Amino acid sequence: MESTVFSYMERYDYENVFLCQDRSVGLKAVIAIHDTTLGPATGGCRMWTYASEGDAIEDAMRLARGMTYKYAAAGVNLGGGKVVVIGDPRRERSEALFRSLGRFIHRLGGLYITGEDVGTTLREMEWMRMETPYVITLPAAWGGAGPISGATALGVVEAMEAACEEAFGTPDLHGRSVAVQGLGAVGYEAVRILTERGAKVFAGDIDDAKVRRVVAEYQAEAVADPNAMATLDVDVYCPCALGATLDDDTVPNLKCRVVAGSANNQLKAERHGDMIHAMGIAYAPDYIANAGGTIFDTDRLLPGGMQPERAMENVRRIGETTRKVFALARAEGIPTYLAADRYAEERIAAVAKSQALRTASGVRMG
Ligand code: NAD
Repeated sequence: MESTVFSYMERYDYENVFLCQDRSVGLKAVIAIHDTTLGPATGGCRMWTYASEGDAIEDAMRLARGMTYKYAAAGVNLGGGKVVVIGDPRRERSEALFRSLGRFIHRLGGLYITGEDVGTTLREMEWMRMETPYVITLPAAWGGAGPISGATALGVVEAMEAACEEAFGTPDLHGRSVAVQGLGAVGYEAVRILTERGAKVFAGDIDDAKVRRVVAEYQAEAVADPNAMATLDVDVYCPCALGATLDDDTVPNLKCRVVAGSANNQLKAERHGDMIHAMGIAYAPDYIANAGGTIFDTDRLLPGGMQPERAMENVRRIGETTRKVFALARAEGIPTYLAADRYAEERIAAVAKSQALRTASGVRMG
C-alpha cells in the first residue's frame, strides 16, 4: 500500500476498515466498508496469500469500493464491502477459521454481509452461516439462490444487445459473430443464450473438453488459440475468463465493434478504456454487464423473499442500464467506463439526498 490507510480512506471516502485476528485458528482478516448509503455493505470473502499486510488491506478496500459501484449501478439497495482473509486457500480453509470469521462478521451486527469470492466456496459460506445470518451466497438448501451463473450470462447478453444497438444501430444478434473467451459457468450459459438469439459463436477455452462440448451442443466454431481471442475478426468480443485482457498488446489490434463480457476488470488500466473509446468501439462496462448474478443472488433480501421471476426481470434490466450508460457517455463525451461510475455515483447521491429529506421531515421508513 503506497499511502497510509487513513489517506486512502479519505481519498475514496471509506467508512470503516476492521482488522480481525484470532491466533487460536490462525485467522488474519480485513473487513473494509466503503459506503452504506444504499444499504448494508455487502461483498464476497476473498482468501489469498498476500505479499504484505498492506497489500491485503488495499485489496479489501479496492474491492469494497468496487462493490459500492456495482450495486449502485445495478439498482440493488446494498452498499460496498469486502473481507479478505490472509492465507493459502489450498491449505488453510478450515472450519474453525471460517467460523471464527463468521463470529467477527456477526459482531458487526449487519453492517457487513459476506459471500463467495476467489479462494472461497459455498462450503466456507455454510461454516460462516453457522455463526451469523449475515451471509448472502448460500446453497439453495441453506436458503440461498443456488447457481447464479445463468443470471450472469443473461445479463451479459442483454448488455451486449444494448452495445450492439450503439455500434450497429440494432440490438439484433441474428448473424452477429461473437467470440466467447472462457466456457466455464458463465461462458457456457452465454453460448447457449447467444445461439438461441441467432448469433454465430466462436468459442475458446484452455480446457479442450469445454470447447468440444459447445461445438457438439451449439455448433459453435472452435478457436485454436484461446489466448488470442480479443483480436479475432468478429463483431463482438465477449471475455468470460480472466480479467485484464484489454491491454497495450490487444487494444490497438481489436477488430470487433463491441466488447461485452462477464470477466471482472477487463481493462488492464483506465487508459485502455480511453483507447477503446477513441477507436469507436462500444464497450459495455464490466461491472454493469456482469451484475446479473448479484441481482439474482440478492433478490431474497427484497420484500417477500426470493422470487426467481422478479429476480430475472431485474437481470434483464441490465440492458436498460447499459443503454443509459451509453447515453450518458455520448452526452458527456466520455468513455463508458467513466460514464458507468458517474451513473452509480448519481444514484448514490440521489438516495443520500432523499434520506436527508426524510430525516429533515422526521418521517421514519421501515
Ligand atoms: P469459471 O472458472 O467457471 O470459468 C472460467 C473459464 O475460463 C474456465 O473454463 C477456464 O478454463 C477458462 N480460462 C481460463 N483462462 C483462459 C484463457 N486464457 N483463455 C480462455 N479460457 C480461459 O468462472 P465463471 O464463473 O464462468 O466466471 C467467468 C468470469 O466472469 C470470471 O472472471 C468471473 O470473475 C466473472 N464473473 C462471474 C460471475 C458468475 O456469476 N459466475 C459473476 C460476475 C463475474
